[in-house]
Amino acid sequence: MGAPAECVNDDVHPGGPDRSKSFLRWEPGSGSGYGGAMSGDNSEHQKSGSAGGSTGESGGETNRGSSGAAAETSKGSPGGLLVSTHDLCWLHDPGPGHPERADRLTAVRHGLQSSELSEAVEWVEAPAAGRDLIERVHPAALVDRLQRLSDAGGGAIDPDTTVSADSAAAAARAAGAGLDLIERLDRGEAAVGWSVVRPPGHHATAKTQMGFCLYNNVAVTARALADRGERVVIVDIDAHHGNGTQDIFYDDPDVLFVSFHQYPWYPYSGRPDECGSGEGLGTTVNVALPAGATGEVFLRALDTVVKPVVERFAPTWLLVSAGFDGHRSDPLTDLGLTSGDYADLVAAILPMAPPGKRIMFLEGGYDLKALSDCAGAVAAVVLDAGFRPEPASSGGPGEEYVELARQIHVEGGARGTYPELPRT
Ligand SMILES: [Zn+2]
Repeated sequence: MGAPAECVNDDVHPGGPDRSKSFLRWEPGSGSGYGGAMSGDNSEHQKSGSAGGSTGESGGETNRGSSGAAAETSKGSPGGLLVSTHDLCWLHDPGPGHPERADRLTAVRHGLQSSELSEAVEWVEAPAAGRDLIERVHPAALVDRLQRLSDAGGGAIDPDTTVSADSAAAAARAAGAGLDLIERLDRGEAAVGWSVVRPPGHHATAKTQMGFCLYNNVAVTARALADRGERVVIVDIDAHHGNGTQDIFYDDPDVLFVSFHQYPWYPYSGRPDECGSGEGLGTTVNVALPAGATGEVFLRALDTVVKPVVERFAPTWLLVSAGFDGHRSDPLTDLGLTSGDYADLVAAILPMAPPGKRIMFLEGGYDLKALSDCAGAVAAVVLDAGFRPEPASSGGPGEEYVELARQIHVEGGARGTYPELPRT
């Protein structure tokens, strides 16, 4: 594919994550984020500054969430939602007060039940990923180190990322869920697979575990698909930049990586001019958005930036890094999304690949009530049902950031006319 001339084309990936900075505003042992979140009491979540811009309170119900994706399933294609998880994923324990806790999985399960779709959602048990398949992404030394650390009872990898005795086994299941879903979707078992696992994955680079992530689950699945000749688009809607996934596929022309994220924010990579390198130039798309960006801005970016690039790329499979920490209630970020926005985003993203070739992966999401609502709203989109606990949001900042990304990826010119983005 033709690569926009102004994309950065360095062997050293530009704007790489700053590992000297911790994951956002979580403080070990603070205990924040627990307690009443499931009951909707978010009072303990302290946002550190509004960081500018509206949070889109003006947004009204738009009902634009009717799913073209689900509609396709009535034409003889496989239907339904297959959710893969494993009990071991509840046992990975990063320590007291850590926001990436087992209750998150319970919240997702609760959301799928509260969407009144529980009978339409099929749950399957994730097998452990074969070591050979993990090692297509991560070096053997990293796999060995994780096992040793778990065998020793656990320990910290960095200030954010801690291993417990069950973490290696949990991580193997988390990596295996997507691989198993490929086989199940190949057999026609569902239109959409959803890997509801932890630890999450998108911050893990090939060689570095960070940002709560041990193995890069979505990358392991994408690698398996690409290795059999598929063209894979990964759309990452977690509020943080998917630096690990970007890094793993930065030079790869067969995997298109698209990330929507708050910028500048942890892990401080994901500038719009990080576009891939070598043969992969043009197959990394970063939609960096400011604090307060609403669903309206996300959808505009999807329509004007992402869809033209995806069309050009012509993927055969779609993987979605579905983190829900862009919800306005999330304690770790400052984006302005609602569960209705996530439903609309997923409805717009799913048609990028046919039914039976779509897998979502749970990434972040640290407010349990918001996580539950988002999971239910997204499941309802997949199943073409009506559960929608919150309206979409609109207004707010970010239009110039969308235009910047459009100029880079769609027009492929006009360097020097971009608005200056804040640097960290
Ligand atoms: Zn995140």
